[in-house]
Amino acid sequence: MSIPNEYLNGLMERVIARDPAEPEFHQAVREVLTSLSPVVDAHPEYITSGVMDSLVEPERIITFRVPWEDDQGVVHINRGYRVQFNSAIGPYKGGLRFHPSVNQGIIKFLGFEQIFKNSLTGLPIGGGKGGSDFDPKGKSDAEVMRFCQSFMAELSKHIGPDTDVPAGDIGVGAREIGFMFGQYKRLRNEFTGTLTGKGLSYGGSLARTEATGFGLCYFTACMLKDAGKSFEGQTVVVSGSGNVATYACQKATEFGAKVVAMSDSNGYIYDKNGIDLDAIKQIKQVERKRIKVYVDTHPEAEYHEGCKGIWTIPCDIALPCATQNELNGDAAKALVANGCFLVAEGANMPCTPDAVDTLKAAGVLFGPAKAANAGGVAVSALEMSQNSMRFFWTFEEVDEHLKQIMTDLYKNASSAAAEYGMPGDLVAGANIAGFLKVANSMLAYGLV
Ligand code: NDP
Repeated sequence: MSIPNEYLNGLMERVIARDPAEPEFHQAVREVLTSLSPVVDAHPEYITSGVMDSLVEPERIITFRVPWEDDQGVVHINRGYRVQFNSAIGPYKGGLRFHPSVNQGIIKFLGFEQIFKNSLTGLPIGGGKGGSDFDPKGKSDAEVMRFCQSFMAELSKHIGPDTDVPAGDIGVGAREIGFMFGQYKRLRNEFTGTLTGKGLSYGGSLARTEATGFGLCYFTACMLKDAGKSFEGQTVVVSGSGNVATYACQKATEFGAKVVAMSDSNGYIYDKNGIDLDAIKQIKQVERKRIKVYVDTHPEAEYHEGCKGIWTIPCDIALPCATQNELNGDAAKALVANGCFLVAEGANMPCTPDAVDTLKAAGVLFGPAKAANAGGVAVSALEMSQNSMRFFWTFEEVDEHLKQIMTDLYKNASSAAAEYGMPGDLVAGANIAGFLKVANSMLAYGLV
């Protein structure tokens, strides 16, 4: 599908020609450039100044070798990445992903999205992302530690509290952040807030663990309120059972909804009585087992192999919280056919473009990731603030900030969409609102 603005359409073609093997990055850029067409029609200075061309080219990409030894003494070589995409409004900020599917295109797509998401939070943070094709699954703690230390041996040369502040993402939780922060501290001989998502005993923020999932529900609650509804009594399907999914399930349940399904990369569980989240936390966080063992202790629940079927479960609200492109056009049709009226993205870009089109055409309320899941990075920025102040806030204080940030973010995205003639289109609204602050800063700097 071509982009309405002719210049941006040509820019899209150049992005594809320059790096043809990066489909996820192309998908993310196409969505943003499509949303920005009416903005550059009204303000051609964003084109003539070079802002649009600069926006799609990372300021810096760092790729490096990560050698590590397993418990048998066998040497492995993985590849590490850090894409420092845009620092117009603050130090690069964005997570690290450890998953075998990681490649440069995926990290670029995530870093690109992060620019707008971070801007939307209203906090002074630029966009970046990193990771490795290392798979922590099935590795011992000692192996994960050796990998993380080797990864940080190189990454530490490129990050810092005022330069680039990484955090967690898929495959990078509290354990990995601990190993990496310890190594950073040792190599640099400094104790600063260079990583976020840290443990509470060494500079972490209360409510960071919960922030993305809780923030997703605060954002969804704003969408529901505008539609004259609430979470109360709604049936919800959440995909994934990692950090985002777990705390989305918790907050949706606290808000009076019933979450009936969750998944991992092997399959999904359906529990018509409502998911027992303590059991999920025990399985995924403590025992690090597959979600299918849930049915061993919950005989009324069903386990289904494969992930796609989760979207055929009847629900009012769907919260995809696992990974990119996990909800396709057919899944969207099944959701619509079963009466789902709201989809909000907890994961990054979990809905394919045809899924988004199907949902929008059917009038389903749609909350895009860069707005709906911005709570995690927002609280990461609050962790940075607390580290700089050498102080900490209570859980309630951080949670209150988070609620306010998600509410403001919803209002900003909503009003930007209305201002550019697309009322209710939160995809366009989030892209435009996120873009303007970054682009105006870039304009102020001149050609840099
Ligand atoms: P976790 O690693 O904690 O959990 C990821 C979950 O998704 C796991 O249940 C995992 O299953 C499942 N999963 C991973 N890959 C696939 C796949 N290919 N197909 C189906 N399921 C899969 O990650 P997070 O919860 O932190 O992140 C989830 C999503 O949210 C990502 O898109 C991430 O970028 C995004 N996000 C995360 C933020 C955060 O603060 N953590 C902030 C903003 C966005 P399994 O256990 O089998 O691997």
